[in-house]
Amino acid sequence: MDKKTILVVGAGISGITTAIEAAEVGHEVVLVERLPYLGGRVAQLGRYFPKLCPPYCGLEINFRRIKNNPRVQVHTSTELVSIRGDRGAYTVELLQKPQYVNDRCTACGACVEVCPVTRDDDFNYGLTTTKAIYLPHEMAYPYRYAIDTSVCMKLECKKCVDACAYRAIDFSRQDQRFEVKVHSVVLATGWTPYDATKIENLRYGSYRNVITNVQMERLLAANGPHQGLILRPSDAKAPESIAFVQCAGSRDDNHLPYCSTVCCLASMKHALEYRERNPQGKAFIFYIDLRAMGRNEDVLSRVKADENIVLIKGKVARIDEEPCGSLVVEAEDILSGLKRKEKVGMVVLATGMTPNLPALDKVVVDEFGFFNAEAVEEGIFAAGCDKAPLDVSSALKDATGMALKAIQG
Ligand SMILES: Cc1cc2nc3c(=O)[nH]c(=O)nc-3n(C[C@H](O)[C@H](O)[C@H](O)COP(=O)(O)OP(=O)(O)OC[C@H]3O[C@@H](n4cnc5c(N)ncnc54)[C@H](O)[C@@H]3O)c2cc1C
Repeated sequence: MDKKTILVVGAGISGITTAIEAAEVGHEVVLVERLPYLGGRVAQLGRYFPKLCPPYCGLEINFRRIKNNPRVQVHTSTELVSIRGDRGAYTVELLQKPQYVNDRCTACGACVEVCPVTRDDDFNYGLTTTKAIYLPHEMAYPYRYAIDTSVCMKLECKKCVDACAYRAIDFSRQDQRFEVKVHSVVLATGWTPYDATKIENLRYGSYRNVITNVQMERLLAANGPHQGLILRPSDAKAPESIAFVQCAGSRDDNHLPYCSTVCCLASMKHALEYRERNPQGKAFIFYIDLRAMGRNEDVLSRVKADENIVLIKGKVARIDEEPCGSLVVEAEDILSGLKRKEKVGMVVLATGMTPNLPALDKVVVDEFGFFNAEAVEEGIFAAGCDKAPLDVSSALKDATGMALKAIQG
């Protein structure tokens, strides 16, 4: 067999899948991830459809496959800087941010106790904070602490260095640039939630109890801010009712003109889980169209069967806050023609997915910023949400196909 080396950029579920599939049939893979841990946004989900299992059901098996396969070289905290050359013979330049915490870290936590700096926890989408030295999350792979260099005082403070009994923290480390020769490149850099502060009438960022769907995933997660209890940000009380606002920015020419595919199902999942955990609670879903793609039609049936989940076809026009933190959501119900005002304890905005592709000469994007496969030379491919918003099972199929393309490339 003609052994190839393939660069995979991004170690979410798509990049991991492409890497494993290519390596397990004998090819060399260089897998780079810009964060200190693997798993991408799936690691941040509470439970995922269709089977509603926790994300680590799927991720852990894949981490083990990577760990046991000497043909996969993993570089965390690393980004792709440039791609030179042509099909079959690319030279890629990679930049690894300093890994101040090394393999000696046992994750004992002594460093956290002495660290004086606090930061927003990006894993929990800002719902909680961590210290500047932090464990990304308790299932993180690799399992070791990381340092947020944008806030850490490094050698000016160095309390963590003194507290670490294993000499695992070394602030003398520098950025490392290196080059690799590869046969083909697969971009799997995934997606970022649309910035909800841009949708002014929905008041994200102004009212604390207006949150986004990705934050709701964290609230529902067993390893989330309240171990799976849904408590609202303003007063940590369980909301008696929640409004889910669909297409928050999506299918809107002023924001994201396209449908993000998964948001309807995500909100239906959220409403069902909220009702499971709060049997007295009431959920309202304001939608334009309800789309339950793939094998998930039963989710919509379960939603319709629950009399305490109210489906309202109408776009939310405004949200007002009451002094107690409750919110009044206003929309025109287009099926009845009546204006509706619902007072709820919390609002969840179903914001869409925006592409994350690196801005490089050889990476050509379409009008929405997703990978434009038709305009790119053979040899550079994209997997999963780099092409379009996808659910996990579609991303997996695509990523497996891209392993084959990259080998042929
Ligand atoms: C609210 C919500 C709920 C959802 N729930 C479900 C569900 O229940 N079931 C389901 O099937 N799907 C669900 N999804 C969709 C699911 O999250 C995606 O299908 C999945 O994340 C796609 O994985 P990916 O690997 O393509 O992208 P990502 O998960 O975004 O992974 C991309 C990886 O690339 C890394 N990266 C980015 N840029 C660079 C760079 N320049 N260099 C190196 N690395 C980089 C990122 O850090 C990340 O690790 C949900 C989506 C939303 C918005």
